[in-house]
Amino acid sequence: MSDCIFCKIVRGEIASEKVYEDEAIVGFLDITPVNPGHTLVVPKAHYTTLHDTPPEILQKMMVAGQKIAGGLKKMGAEGVNFGMNIEKAAGQVVFHTHLHIMPRREGDGYRLWHGKAYAEGAMQKTGVALRSALS
Ligand code: AMP
Ligand code: ZN
Repeated sequence: MSDCIFCKIVRGEIASEKVYEDEAIVGFLDITPVNPGHTLVVPKAHYTTLHDTPPEILQKMMVAGQKIAGGLKKMGAEGVNFGMNIEKAAGQVVFHTHLHIMPRREGDGYRLWHGKAYAEGAMQKTGVALRSALS
């Protein structure tokens, strides 16, 4: 898409610190990293969210992420979070599908969200609803 910032990065029209490239995928450093080395893995083709991205592209994104995570580990990352914000309610700001690869260290201060327990019977009801949605 012509006005998409990540398409512009893929085409080289906007500068980026590119760390990975193959026939379908580009990986470049996030400008506001959780920790240094935080990388965004994006398909070269424009898709807006997880929902319209073909499974084979998602597979390639994950494999590229695995390679980048290996590089970050070599550089001293003690752990890595993969993350994808899917739609505005989940924090997606750039509507070109991307996977965050975030290097972590013990005690770096970041915490994942806390879950909260289901009310009595609600987990089973949710299971029924989701199995039905998936069928
Ligand atoms: P999201 O909230 O998942 O849509 O994340 C978008 C990410 O893109 C944010 O972490 C931004 O820091 C990052 N970002 C936005 N513009 C650029 C850019 N020009 N180069 C690198 N990263 C960017
Ligand atoms: Zn795009």
